[in-house]
Amino acid sequence: MTRDEALAKLATSAFRRRFHLSPSLRRYVREKGVDAVRSHAADFIAQRLAPAHPANDGRQTPMKGHPVFVAQHATATCCRSCMNKWWKVPTGTPLSESQQKKTVALIMAWIECEMSAAANEDEGSGVQRPNASDGHDGRKSAAPGTTTNPDGTSAGHLAERSPQNTLT
Ligand SMILES: [Zn+2]
Repeated sequence: MTRDEALAKLATSAFRRRFHLSPSLRRYVREKGVDAVRSHAADFIAQRLAPAHPANDGRQTPMKGHPVFVAQHATATCCRSCMNKWWKVPTGTPLSESQQKKTVALIMAWIECEMSAAANEDEGSGVQRPNASDGHDGRKSAAPGTTTNPDGTSAGHLAERSPQNTLT
């Protein structure tokens, strides 16, 4: 699967589509630079996802605080069970070098999409929260009335198991 195909697949999930970089996280990416963020992503994947049995698997990725964390939830690379479900990565075995590289590449592709999609919004915007309800990428309209805030969900991959609960 190419990166574009992976991003297109993610865009079919109302749950994954809810994640966006907040203005402050976009500012972080601009100030640190994409290369620094990529190296953070490589570290997070190596430390939190790559072991055969990662510590706290399923809860090791915060919902906010770093652009890579948000990107991991958006790209279903937040824990080994999401990686297994979405990308057929086997559990119980360490991630290979190439699996780690692909994971980082997907995360960075998502971040770069977010940065360019949001480039206009950042002009004079003081809003500090991601807009979780409008599905601005417009591939499929988001469920009307969906108000769940990704920042308030502690275990996103659990919420995804019953997507019908988010529909009105
Ligand atoms: Zn997960």
